[in-house]
Amino acid sequence: MFIVIMGPPGSGKGTQAKILSETYNIPHISSGDIFRQAMTLNDEMSIELKKAINQGHLVSDELTNKIIARRLSQKDCQSGFVLDGYPRTVSQAKALDTMLKDNNQKIDRVVNLYVDYRVIMERLKKRLFCKSCGSSYNSVTNPPKSSGICDQCGSELYTRTDDNSNTVEERIEVYDKVTKPVLEFYSKKGLLCTIQGNVPVEVATKSIVDCLEEKSF
Ligand code: ADP
Ligand code: ZN
Repeated sequence: MFIVIMGPPGSGKGTQAKILSETYNIPHISSGDIFRQAMTLNDEMSIELKKAINQGHLVSDELTNKIIARRLSQKDCQSGFVLDGYPRTVSQAKALDTMLKDNNQKIDRVVNLYVDYRVIMERLKKRLFCKSCGSSYNSVTNPPKSSGICDQCGSELYTRTDDNSNTVEERIEVYDKVTKPVLEFYSKKGLLCTIQGNVPVEVATKSIVDCLEEKSF
């Protein structure tokens, strides 16, 4: 199954993508995770990435497409994947179509998680991630049992450098202007299904699976 999961920052797409990856036994490809990993290398590319990401701007289409194309050409992606955070511009969506077409593949479904902006702002400013396993928490609505420590693996929790008030507002604005048109692009192709994201994780997962399996669409 070739799935794209979309939604504004903080909509829970990373959480759902992880679950879908396990459910369907396909790799979870997160552009944000790939970039954060690349940011630690301190090479020329990491400087470009840090500059964009920490200001809440998008990384250039050229660099993003190159990095994703490289990842999607790997063997584990040939029978499906769940893409999270990519495509984020119409130009990236067109580039993805070409990458897949060259391989005789196509997207089966684009899931859009809808969450009100006010809810997202609050979620983003209070979220924490585990350094080691990537589990996410919310210091108010879903705190770890022991402060600063991951329930799953005991590692330290951290706040993403781009989860501060200024950057969060910029990211939401960018989403509105540049990424929302991608929804329209996929809607025209009949691939889009929109799911209410402001519900418990399991409820959102069930709606997504129903939509992927065409029980409701
Ligand atoms: P979120 O969806 O929670 O904002 P991500 O982890 O998906 O966060 O992305 C973090 C940042 O990485 C984005 O704000 C952006 O700067 C950059 N980024 C991620 N994916 C893309 C993309 N497809 N194109 C351009 N920039 C991207
Ligand atoms: Zn952990």
